[in-house]
Amino acid sequence: ILTRGFRDVRQYLQGVRTLNEENLSEALAMIRVSLLEADVEFQVTRSFLEKVKEQALGEIVHVSVKFKERKLKVSPGDHFIKLCHDELVRLMGPEDASLDLRRKPVSAIMMVGLQGSGKTTTAAKLARFLQKKGNRPMLVAADVYRPAAVDQIRKLGADLNVPVYSDGGARPPEICSKAMQIASDANCDVVIFDTAGRLTIDEPLMEEIHQIEELAHPDNVLLVCDAMIGQESVNIAKAFNERIRLTGFILTKLDGDARGGAAISIKEATGVPIKFVGMGEGMDRLEEFRPDGLASRILGFGDVVGLVKDFEEVLDEKKAEEDAMRMLRGEFGFGDFLEQIRAIKKMGPLQDLIEKLPFFPGGLPSSAKVDDYELVRIESIINSMTPAERKHPDIINQSRIARVARGSGREEREVKDLLTKFRDMRDLMSAMGGGKIRGRWKGMKG
Ligand code: GDP
Ligand code: MG
Repeated sequence: ILTRGFRDVRQYLQGVRTLNEENLSEALAMIRVSLLEADVEFQVTRSFLEKVKEQALGEIVHVSVKFKERKLKVSPGDHFIKLCHDELVRLMGPEDASLDLRRKPVSAIMMVGLQGSGKTTTAAKLARFLQKKGNRPMLVAADVYRPAAVDQIRKLGADLNVPVYSDGGARPPEICSKAMQIASDANCDVVIFDTAGRLTIDEPLMEEIHQIEELAHPDNVLLVCDAMIGQESVNIAKAFNERIRLTGFILTKLDGDARGGAAISIKEATGVPIKFVGMGEGMDRLEEFRPDGLASRILGFGDVVGLVKDFEEVLDEKKAEEDAMRMLRGEFGFGDFLEQIRAIKKMGPLQDLIEKLPFFPGGLPSSAKVDDYELVRIESIINSMTPAERKHPDIINQSRIARVARGSGREEREVKDLLTKFRDMRDLMSAMGGGKIRGRWKGMKG
């Protein structure tokens, strides 16, 4: 349903050349219905729509660019879908599938949730996941009320070659705390408590979980939620989150026709990250949660999102190329300088690479290197320059240096240093433009 709503929107926007108030609110109304139908909470839906509206107005127009061999056309509908996608990703993110496994000798994970949500299956899948990562997991049968539950986890453990600890006579909190020692003796480094669930949240269930927490101190408490139950999963998530310290969610049964809407609301309603999703009954069907993947799935537009991503990349490339051409023509000002050092800083490893190239026997001129602290300092100085000074740094004489220093609260010496850095960078650029470096590069190959 969610998918269809977004498809309608895209179709509706197909012929539109520019988004205005009118067609935008029409599009948003379609999305609103489809989000609510998909069990996204009312408040969450509202804030989602507000954010998208804010970003869409005036931003979205029909564009087509030709770049190198590629011709790209992006309709407002495509662009709008991409906006929705990015906002969904933001709502469900940030991505955080980490588990806290630092405790020595044994860390603990506790699975909680209602009956049938998938705790036992997911406990075993998680054991498999950790096993693959090089951990030595042990499963703990802490659901002692149904004999079948213990058999189920024993069988899963046997299939995976993961030890299972159970103790028919003891109560779950004692079982879990004892399991820590047993696991340590067996040279396991992580235990997974498979706890009991009820059909609804009730006091005895919460009390038992609290007792396990007190006795065994699990490092991770994961609430397993069935994606099939839709809006109800948000209420369950909230109720558990109010009573115990959850560290993450696992959303199961996303392989069916479950609406991914639950993932959006759960994260937004509790602030607790979704760690994994269950994509089937098989032991390998557990995936680390990727907001990007689920957003594409919810929208049903992996292709469109990909296209718009390409498009944005091309625009970036195109701008970078134009910037480079301008610089090579010697039109290089402080604005470019800032961008350039930011780019070099971002490159990180590439900076190391440049230093290994033969053009700069001593590596980059030391004046072209900057650290974070310096970048802040440089920005403050450049911000105190007039636009003319930024564009034509050669006009910066002694009295201008003094003014810039005062304005930015820096020493005159620092402003002069920056001018030197700038000239070095400009020389470097024009050396590249003059073909010196390109020539050498050819020479090297030949
Ligand atoms: P528990 O009562 O919380 O321990 O739930 P179980 O682990 O016993 O799972 C209940 C049912 O859901 C079982 O039939 C599982 O095979 C099934 N199940 C669990 N996770 C998934 C999943 O990600 N996808 C599908 N399709 N079925 C699942
Ligand atoms: Mg179970």
